[in-house]
Amino acid sequence: MPPTVGPGYPPSSMPPGSSLLDKVWDAHSVRELPSGQTQLFIGLHLIHEVTSPQAFAMLQELGLPVRFPSRTFATVDHIIPTDSQQRPLADPLAEQMLIALEGNTREAGITLFDPASRRQGIVHVIGPELGLTQPGMTIACGDSHTSTHGAFGAVAFGIGTSQVRDVLATQCLALARPKVRRIEVTGKLGAGVYAKDVILSIIRQLGVKGGVGYAYEYAGPVIEAMSMEERLTVCNMSIEGGARCGYVNPDDTTFEYLRGREYSPEADAWQRALAYWRAVASDPDADYADRVELDGDRLAPSVTWGIHPGQSVAVDEHLPRLADHPHAEQPQLAEALAYMGLRPGEPIAGTKIDVAFIGSCTNGRISDLREAARVARTGRVAPGVRALVVPGSQAVARQAEQEGLDELFRSAGFDWREAGCSMCLAMNPDKLVGREVCASSSNRNFKGRQGSPTGRTLLMSPAMVAAAALRGRVADVREVL
Ligand code: SF4
Repeated sequence: MPPTVGPGYPPSSMPPGSSLLDKVWDAHSVRELPSGQTQLFIGLHLIHEVTSPQAFAMLQELGLPVRFPSRTFATVDHIIPTDSQQRPLADPLAEQMLIALEGNTREAGITLFDPASRRQGIVHVIGPELGLTQPGMTIACGDSHTSTHGAFGAVAFGIGTSQVRDVLATQCLALARPKVRRIEVTGKLGAGVYAKDVILSIIRQLGVKGGVGYAYEYAGPVIEAMSMEERLTVCNMSIEGGARCGYVNPDDTTFEYLRGREYSPEADAWQRALAYWRAVASDPDADYADRVELDGDRLAPSVTWGIHPGQSVAVDEHLPRLADHPHAEQPQLAEALAYMGLRPGEPIAGTKIDVAFIGSCTNGRISDLREAARVARTGRVAPGVRALVVPGSQAVARQAEQEGLDELFRSAGFDWREAGCSMCLAMNPDKLVGREVCASSSNRNFKGRQGSPTGRTLLMSPAMVAAAALRGRVADVREVL
C-alpha cells in the first residue's frame, strides 16, 4: 500500500486563508526551481499501456530504475477490446502493447491490474474505486483526464510521455503553480439534470480556454450534494475547460466513499489520514484569484452541437444563429455547424443519431449505468441505431450484472460490453463509421475523436444518451423519466 502523500506529510504548518491547492502544493514541494516552477513530489502515479512504453524505453536508455514502484499502479484501458478480453487479444498490436506493459511492470515491481486481475478498468475509474485516489495527494497519469481524481480533493494532472519518464525516474515533476478559480454552483438540480450538465454548462460559460493557468475549485450546494461519482464526472472535464486540474474539497461524502476500500488506510492510519484530509480542505477565508457562480436551478440537460465541449446548448434550445454572435466568432461557428451537418437556428432536439455510446471515464460508473437503465427500461433501441453500454471497470460490470442491468440493457436492444475506454477514443475495435452521428456520454467531441475521420459526436449525460437511443434522435430525458 502506498504512503498517502509526499515528503511534507503531515504538513507542519499551513498558513491561514489557504486553498486546498496551495496546501497540497506546499506539502509536496521539494524545492522551488530557478525557472520559477516547483519540483513537486507525486504521491501516486497511474500508468496505462498507451503512454508508458516509450517512457519505460527512455528510462532503460538512461539506465535508471523506477524510483518508487510502490507509488505506481498500472492498468490496460485504451486498446482493450470490449467484446472479448480473452488472451491473446484479437488485435495483434493491442496484444503486443499489453505484453509490453506486463513486461515493464513485472521488471519494475509495479502492480498491474490486467484483465485477469478482476480489477482492470479505465485508469480514472479504478483509482477511485480501489481507494488509491485519496484527498490531499498529488497524482499524475499520462492521460489528459487525470483531473478526474480531483473529486477527492487531490491535485491531479495529466502529463505527457516525457513527464511519465520523469515521474518513473524521480517521482517528481517540474510544474508551475496554477491560480485557483472557485466555481460555486448554487441551488438544486432538477430531475433529469446531472453532473454532466453542470460541467458542460460551466465550460459553455467560461469557454474551452477559460481555465488556462487555473485550477478549478468546485463548490456550492449543488456540488456538496453530489455523490463521489457525480463529482468525478465534474472534475473529469476540467481539462476540457482548459484548467490544469479541478477539485472538490473533501468532506464526509468523500470519507464515507473511501472507508473500507482495498487501498484505503485502516485503523490508526485511517484516523491519521482523516485528520490530514479534513485539514487540507480550503479555509473558509481562502483567497482566490477569481470567483464564478452558476445557478443550478436554471440548468437543463445539455447537448453539444459542435466540435469542442464548449459548443453546447440546453436540449430545449436552438442551435446558434451566426448573426447573433460577434463577427470574429462566426467563422468557427460556421465551421463547426458545417462539419456536424447542422443548420443554424434549428432545435437540437430531434437531431438524428446512428450510434449511442454509454461509458468512458466521465460516465461509465455504476450510478451512470443505473440512470441510463431507468430510461432504457421504458422502451427499445430505435431501428437502425447501434447502442453500446461499456462499464468503466470490471468492478462496475460485476455490480451492474448483480443488479441485472446487463439483462435490462440487452432486452432493450443495447450491446452489453466488457470494461474499457471503448468508443471514447476508439483505439480499439469500437469505432464510428463514415459520417455516423454518435450520442455519447464521453468527454470530447473533436473532429474524428471516435475513430472515423468524419464521424460526429454529440456529448450528453448517460440518461440523455439512453433517451436518444430509444428515440433514434436527440430527446429531452425529462419527457421520458
Ligand atoms: S475513457 Fe476516454 S478520456 Fe477516459 S481515459 Fe479512456 S480514452 Fe481517455
